[in-house]
Amino acid sequence: MIITNIFAGTIERIRQEQQINFMAYYDTLTGLPNRTLFKDRLRQAISLAERTSKMIAVIFMDLDSFKSINDTMGHEVGDEVIIKVSRKLSESFRKSDTVSRFSGDEFLIMVNNLESTEDIYKIADKVINTFREPFIVHSQKIYVSASFGVAVYPFDGKDADTLIRNADIAMYEAKSRGKSQYSLCTDDMKEEIVFKHELSNKLYRAVENNELILYYQPLVVAKTGEIRCMEALVRWYLPDYGMIAPNMFIPLAEQSGLIVPIGEWVLKTACKQVKAWLDMGLPPIQISVNVSVIQLRNPDFVATVERVLKETGLNAKQLNLEITESAAVKESDNILSTLKKLRKLGIEISIDDFGTEYSSLSRLNHMPVNRIKIDRSFINNLFKSEKDQALVRGMIHLSQTLGLRVVAEGVERKEQLEFLRKLGCDEIQGYYISYPIPADDVLKLFKHMDIVMRRQARK
Ligand SMILES: [Mg+2]
Repeated sequence: MIITNIFAGTIERIRQEQQINFMAYYDTLTGLPNRTLFKDRLRQAISLAERTSKMIAVIFMDLDSFKSINDTMGHEVGDEVIIKVSRKLSESFRKSDTVSRFSGDEFLIMVNNLESTEDIYKIADKVINTFREPFIVHSQKIYVSASFGVAVYPFDGKDADTLIRNADIAMYEAKSRGKSQYSLCTDDMKEEIVFKHELSNKLYRAVENNELILYYQPLVVAKTGEIRCMEALVRWYLPDYGMIAPNMFIPLAEQSGLIVPIGEWVLKTACKQVKAWLDMGLPPIQISVNVSVIQLRNPDFVATVERVLKETGLNAKQLNLEITESAAVKESDNILSTLKKLRKLGIEISIDDFGTEYSSLSRLNHMPVNRIKIDRSFINNLFKSEKDQALVRGMIHLSQTLGLRVVAEGVERKEQLEFLRKLGCDEIQGYYISYPIPADDVLKLFKHMDIVMRRQARK
């Protein structure tokens, strides 16, 4: 009996020690490391990073208007939100990172072993994504946002306290700009991130605010100059900013997944437009639409295309989809069956920016492709580099052997056009023919081209 009691006492003592230990290093509400443990781990990570010369990001995060959740819905709901946020954050980061509760609605996150500044942007996206969806508490949707500041070892501090303090300062700076913002300590990074983040936020509303516009650039038959196809090019007109170039906002749309609704809008608008032109009696031109690999990976993509064709009444043969060479090469396993289904519908496929990935044409041979578009950089170098001239010659020859049509992109001068014609290039696109133009100018362009062609025929 005495032995049992001693044994029970020992267990009780161990349990108490464990509890004290837990309370010293962990947050009781969420089970996350507390600030003491966070600092310990950060110190360890710094001494490791001194040897490996990797970077560490320290994120100081604070929920926006959390007080109002507590005030309007009660502390119980508030606590539940804190728990849900903790879980989601912990799930988003690696085991080797540390997510900790600093106090109240403040969190500290440490991400170590960073190689480049690009990694820091990815982490920021990770935190933002945590708050994209509402949190469900007692079957009620609660939208929560957070502001955060990021300090990076070794740039913004070399010890734990300095890094945490600087991340905190950056967080306050983010808060001062409004909700759901973040801020970096380092100046040049700060600028770039702030701009991209602002754009990302505004991009969410771009479709519904009618800020996206399509421009059209013709693709003509090299021999005759007749317009064969119109490529739809999306532009974003953002009030107060002006025109935002696609190479600026498309990557942001891809990162956030917005490319799917934006891509669908582009497809639908372009198909509707070309159908209207055809109904007006224009020659049977195709419309060409650029498609992101994210869209192609989406299992609903083929159904979306079919639906758009049905809704707009456009014949599948009049539609051409452009995918970049890098998508075609790197993702060929994932997108091959989608491309085959699209071909089966009668839609044509082009490989855009060809040559930039140095993939061999024979590798593309197993893909259901109709056209390749030689990247503008080769055309630009046509008379500057013999190597590029030989490459263009080779690309045209080989494509035609494989039964593919060849388009030269970025033709800006008459000599380029004549040279490409001689090489037997099928189609031409570029400023020499026409800049991308708004839909309203397309009819004028057709009239103009018609006159030029008739004049040439008379000669
Ligand atoms: Mg294109």
